Amino acid sequence: MPFPLSSDKIERRHLINGEFCESSDNGTFKLSSPYSHEKIVDMCEATTDDTNRAVAAAKAAFPAWSNTDPMVRGVHMKKLAELIKQSANELAQLDAMSMGRPVSSYFDAMMAASHFEHYAEAAYEGLGTTSLNTPGFVNMTFRQPIGPVAAIIPWNIPTAMFAMKLAPALAAGCTVVLKSSEKAPLTPAKLASLSVDAGFPPGVINVLSGHGTPSGSTLSSHVDIRLVNFTGSTLTGRKIQAAAASSNLKKVVLELGGKSPAIVFEDADVAQAAGATVGSMQLLMGQACIANSRVYVHESIADKFKEAFIANFKAAKKGDPLLPETQQGPQADEIQFERIKSFLQSASEGKGKLELGGKATQVDGQGYFIEPTVYSGVAEDERTQKEEVFGPFVNINTFKTEEEAIAKANDTEYGLYASVFTKDISRALRVAKAFESGQVGINCTSPTFAADMPFGGYKGSGQGREGYGYSLDEYLEVKSVYVMIDPA
Ligand code: NAD
Repeated sequence: MPFPLSSDKIERRHLINGEFCESSDNGTFKLSSPYSHEKIVDMCEATTDDTNRAVAAAKAAFPAWSNTDPMVRGVHMKKLAELIKQSANELAQLDAMSMGRPVSSYFDAMMAASHFEHYAEAAYEGLGTTSLNTPGFVNMTFRQPIGPVAAIIPWNIPTAMFAMKLAPALAAGCTVVLKSSEKAPLTPAKLASLSVDAGFPPGVINVLSGHGTPSGSTLSSHVDIRLVNFTGSTLTGRKIQAAAASSNLKKVVLELGGKSPAIVFEDADVAQAAGATVGSMQLLMGQACIANSRVYVHESIADKFKEAFIANFKAAKKGDPLLPETQQGPQADEIQFERIKSFLQSASEGKGKLELGGKATQVDGQGYFIEPTVYSGVAEDERTQKEEVFGPFVNINTFKTEEEAIAKANDTEYGLYASVFTKDISRALRVAKAFESGQVGINCTSPTFAADMPFGGYKGSGQGREGYGYSLDEYLEVKSVYVMIDPA
């Protein structure tokens, strides 16, 4: 099927200071479809100079934007939410084209619009406090925007990420430079053009496309950036934190990788638990940070669970992500595909038993497809049990006791999401308390997402929290102001 949007209709440039521009050295990188491998567009590759210009624009726009009435900031944000809703189909197509996400599973536009709508109202929430507790003083706190900020986002949910980073920052009064992922730059570039249509003043929103180096690393070490909010791998998160520490000690918010466990006890509803864990693994073809990629099943129900899981997992219809009937698209790109294949190789050499899949495949002779893959009996120290595969790949292991299951679930550098399936509420809450994880699902898995709940990780899965009621604080400094009213 030809691309629905011709390449001349696709925005491929950077937005800097309110204007779309080519890279300073006219450099580009080729973006190809992970389904047909055809070139989509030559995307502009941000240079250090482009990145510095974007930061300078954000810095110049900060005084006016931070002093703009929150009501006016909210008007622009509501307008952007409206334009995102109107562009939902186009945004879905752009992600399908660039990173293989089936249009049938695209919910990001609604999520993004909802974030801008919520934070349009929340712009007034940055209020300080007053204290009369110190004799002779009226003391108060001011909560003020931290300054120009950077957002560096991954490729797996770019529309939602754009909104989750920008909406609270803009509401707080910060100006932003966002760098999109080299794998999925199309929706962020489209959102950049919608932000111009929404009337944001020049320099308030700047959007760059390009690789981690030089643009991402320039942002994380830039002395005029006061906070960097990053979502991506734990490896890159470490580099960003190091760059932030060695430049101006800027604040860092990190949303990183995961290796999320699910524990299924013997009293669980097996069909429900299998359906939920499969749903978690099918989300974005296993390329979700919150995927339940390690399942621990009580040994007494292991065979029944595996049977239900496998029947469900293999049922997804593979195909062209642009077709509405497709449920499983290709993996995001060749790098991602080769990486997953290396995990398939490791698994085949390990102690586990292959229960399903285990191979790369194609649909109509094309695409970076991976068969839904299940191993059982994998040693806890094997690579596929320790590292984030980021593909449709699950290990199902067994356990005998609750203590054993918890110990195995927590034996990971990550701590993003963990699930427990049981009808025993005491046990469910005991296990929820024991999980070292920022999110816990009781009889549910990671697709359960509520925007008004905090989202973030323990341990190597990150620091800081996102979500309504949580993100705004990251972008506001607190200043204590002491007013002497009665000199002693
Ligand atoms: P990645 O770390 O490779 O890249 C993320 C972003 O960082 C990209 O924009 C990339 O260009 C940029 N980058 C790379 N090197 C950089 C550097 N040295 N300095 C600054 N920026 C740099 O991650 P990815 O492959 O795009 O995304 C997948 C990862 O994201 C997975 O680990 C997944 O678990 C994680 N993720 C986490 C969440 C969450 O909320 N916790 C959500 C989605 C994805």
